[in-house]
Amino acid sequence: MTTGKDHRMTDTASAPGTLDADVVVAGAGSAGVAAAIAAAESGARTVLVEAGGQVGGTLAWQLLEHSAGFHDVHGNQVVGGVGQRIVDRLRQYGGTPGHIPDDVGYTATRTPVNHAELAMAEATLLADAGVRVLLSCPVVAAGTDERRVGWIDVETPDGRRRVTARVYVDTTGDAVLAALAGAAVHDDVAHRQPASLLLKLGGVDFAALLAYAADHPDDLRPGNAVGTADDECVNLWGFGTLLDAGHRQGLLELRRTELHLAGWPRRGEAVLNVTRVPWPGTGLDGGAAYLRLSKQVLETVRWFRQLVPGGRDAYLAAVADRVGVRESRRVVGLATLTRDDVVSGRRRADSVGTGAFPIDIHDASSPGLEHADTIASSYDIPFGCLVPRDLDNVLVAGRCVSSTHEGNGSVRITATCFATGEAAGVAAAMTARDAVAVGSLDVARLQDQLRRRGVLGARDGVAVQVRRTRQGQP
Ligand SMILES: Cc1cc2nc3c(=O)[nH]c(=O)nc-3n(C[C@H](O)[C@H](O)[C@H](O)COP(=O)(O)OP(=O)(O)OC[C@H]3O[C@@H](n4cnc5c(N)ncnc54)[C@H](O)[C@@H]3O)c2cc1C
Repeated sequence: MTTGKDHRMTDTASAPGTLDADVVVAGAGSAGVAAAIAAAESGARTVLVEAGGQVGGTLAWQLLEHSAGFHDVHGNQVVGGVGQRIVDRLRQYGGTPGHIPDDVGYTATRTPVNHAELAMAEATLLADAGVRVLLSCPVVAAGTDERRVGWIDVETPDGRRRVTARVYVDTTGDAVLAALAGAAVHDDVAHRQPASLLLKLGGVDFAALLAYAADHPDDLRPGNAVGTADDECVNLWGFGTLLDAGHRQGLLELRRTELHLAGWPRRGEAVLNVTRVPWPGTGLDGGAAYLRLSKQVLETVRWFRQLVPGGRDAYLAAVADRVGVRESRRVVGLATLTRDDVVSGRRRADSVGTGAFPIDIHDASSPGLEHADTIASSYDIPFGCLVPRDLDNVLVAGRCVSSTHEGNGSVRITATCFATGEAAGVAAAMTARDAVAVGSLDVARLQDQLRRRGVLGARDGVAVQVRRTRQGQP
């Protein structure tokens, strides 16, 4: 093991051209970025391997424009650590106002982010930690001997390259590495949440849009506070009447009864979350989903221009660079997070992170959001959810942690992904150093490190100091 700053990788003598590290993290989304930073800062030579050409994953490139899950419903901060450091770094550059009250009333806070600046801020933290990043290099094969992964292959523009490590962290969202290595996965294709393609509009007249929202509270979700055109960020959830009119007039083929709009009034920009298709079983079908979603995107823009007050001059400023997958394979771990764990706020002696977001489930066959449960308190995520039952040197984090369909509806939220990613990264570095099976790691020592890093214990701290963005308010 070397320090995180020393990221020289060695060609192994037995296999020239092979890249060797202590820890390899596969997938550079919220969980993977946090895992790689934490592993490198814990002294492991760390390689982060990403299929796409950027870091940031779904939070950045699905254009979510806000991270959620940093606070419980009472406003207590439950996620600190790398997730909070990313928000702090981004705030230094003006890419986020920080945590603000959730004007939709779904939970206590939202953390708006400019998606492109978020990815750049994450890149600066990866560089500081000394992580070696491989982009446009999907993991396509894994070699397993009994319960240990010996190598992975990544596809590069120059052909396949072998990468070896003592410990691997799967943060691909879809448990790609673990599945290639033969680990069992939870996957109920019939009940997967639908996929979407988020779109960003420019040229929105927020004075007119917000005047409509203020005059039509029945067209918004109950509890949705309506901001002003001077606000930095606003959220609106509803528009059932206008969506219904659009459907009846033939502007929108898809029938929806609600949408979520995340707006930046002073920029005239709004991200709409409204398209959806059932998400099929394999990545091979992703192209078909994309073709259907693209038509929905165009129809949504046309509807917005024709029927939504303030939309006349709106245009499609950006569209997500990938189909947005809410749910797919999750590893079968030593423990599995369930609905009951989430709604009962279950505490665990082997906790390595805290979740607090409602169980948020969208149903492909209904026009609304099938929102299951708002939860009264936070809950613990046990270490066993990060440990594949079938493998001794692999950890998982993020969306593909061991969880049921409903447990995943909460744990998949991005702030929680930062937390599980950081826990997996520290655990991977410790496992690599101690040369033990991940399932035998001394969890008390891991928790010690996580407390020091602010991953654990955040919920015992002060209630969040949220910053109001409306001008003139504290
Ligand atoms: C439409 C939609 C709306 C959402 N809204 C919100 C929201 O408002 N707020 C919120 O907090 N969360 C939201 N979520 C949930 C959240 O975005 C995701 O659950 C979360 O981002 C998952 O993070 P992750 O790190 O596990 O995976 P991801 O961020 O998806 O990262 C996985 C990474 O792995 C890479 N990868 C995949 N396969 C390979 C491979 N073979 N080799 C190498 N790399 C690979 C991918 O390219 C990707 O970069 C939403 C999700 C969707 C789809």
